[in-house]
Amino acid sequence: MKNIYGFTLSKLEIYFQEKGEKKYKATQIFEWLYKKRIQSFDEMKNISKFTILDLKENFKLENLTLLQKQEDIDVCKFLFELSDGNKIEAVLMKHDYGNSLCISSQVGCNMGCSFCESGRLKKVRNLEPSEMVLQILQVEKELGIRVTHLVLMGIGEPFDNYDNVMEFISIINEPKGIALGARHITISTCGIVPKILEFMNHGKQVNLAISLHAPNNTIRDSIMKINHIYKIEEVIDAVRKYIEKTNRRVTFEYILLRDINDSEADAIELSKLLSGLNCYVNLIPYNETSHIEYRKSKKETILKFYDTLKKNCINVTIRKEFGSKVSAACGQLRANYEEE
Ligand code: SAH
Repeated sequence: MKNIYGFTLSKLEIYFQEKGEKKYKATQIFEWLYKKRIQSFDEMKNISKFTILDLKENFKLENLTLLQKQEDIDVCKFLFELSDGNKIEAVLMKHDYGNSLCISSQVGCNMGCSFCESGRLKKVRNLEPSEMVLQILQVEKELGIRVTHLVLMGIGEPFDNYDNVMEFISIINEPKGIALGARHITISTCGIVPKILEFMNHGKQVNLAISLHAPNNTIRDSIMKINHIYKIEEVIDAVRKYIEKTNRRVTFEYILLRDINDSEADAIELSKLLSGLNCYVNLIPYNETSHIEYRKSKKETILKFYDTLKKNCINVTIRKEFGSKVSAACGQLRANYEEE
């Protein structure tokens, strides 16, 4: 039996139409699930007894289990257990522009980036669309807030779970449901070129972020396994095509790792690589973890890197640091929990 939170409005409409029923039932159900946020089928007051029985027979309405919640002033981190016992994380960050939720797209990750905690657990499986939807619903319920921005930057590689991620986006973007605007959703990828090209044709105005983290193949090869498959120039080339096609600005994420990718020469090389592209660079101070030996760049190094990009006409920001107190680096909460 499939979880009802994994159905797009149009799939639910087809379900009813195939039974010879009116498709507006799907809209009513969407409103109960996402506007009124009911917790059982019996609460759907304007739905006939007959249909409720049918729903109970054919769909699950099941939540994730909240295992842990770590709260700080501007950040809250959640560890959830899925129905098969696997664990995933989500992080809510309070910005001045709204509440941004970072969710997971897979259990574990196969991308093997050497600085990332998530990849210490290899991919166990993809998340279902319902398991991504429920991360939003349950964080909102737990904190009594609305999520205004969503980033797919938690555990997993969203483009290694492309179909489920796109299905998920169409569920949460639906105006009759959660109605999260496409421009408020960001997918982050380590650079799976064929999926970047597929994504550019999907037609929604979802933002694209690329985890670049290096200005050349030598450095990128040494920290990101995916670069052995898709070289940096292929990634840039795909991004160029994406921008031409969609006319949308792309974000490059760049974690600053001390003495690895943070020199002035690296900043100059990065500027050359990105020059002329409609993009901006988000510099990320590395969130140190107890398991991985990389160090975070010094403050003055970060500022110098920033200045060099600026001087070379690259749009750049430094990411606000959240949650080092609440182990918010990707995959940390799960890893610590497993060790206890
Ligand atoms: N697989 C996708 C999305 C998940 S990672 C991707 O690679 O983009 C989300 C972002 O967090 C990536 O840019 C990743 O490189 C970064 N990240 C991972 N570990 C980190 C750490 N310890 N400190 C800071 N950023 C980290």
